[in-house]
Amino acid sequence: MSDCIFCKIAAGEMGVKFLYETDTLVAFRDINPQAPTHVLVIPKKHIAKISDLSGEDIALVGEMVAAGNRIAATEKIAEDGYRLVFNCGRHGGQEVFHIHLHLLGGRPMNWPPG
Ligand code: AMP
Repeated sequence: MSDCIFCKIAAGEMGVKFLYETDTLVAFRDINPQAPTHVLVIPKKHIAKISDLSGEDIALVGEMVAAGNRIAATEKIAEDGYRLVFNCGRHGGQEVFHIHLHLLGGRPMNWPPG
């Protein structure tokens, strides 16, 4: 989508450094980190909300989670643990309507999340 910031990032148009890239996804650091490690994993394909998932896109989310696990290891937060989050819609706190997996770690996470 031409007016989607994450589509532009995924296309390499914003000069954002990728921590990880495959044919289907990219990962980069969140611009406003909420933890010592805060990485976003996004598909190259535009999907607005996690609730829009269907068909072959369901497997794509598995790839995103696997990428989050892999990046957690390279960021050296895997042993202590981390959080993987999809925000969905207004009550879910979603601000960017191109699905993204938040990888948060480097400190203990609170529950409930607020
Ligand atoms: P969400 O509230 O789940 O939609 O999260 C959107 C996330 O995208 C927020 O954590 C933002 O800080 C992050 N974000 C927005 N624009 C950028 C950008 N240009 N580069 C990196 N992260 C961004």
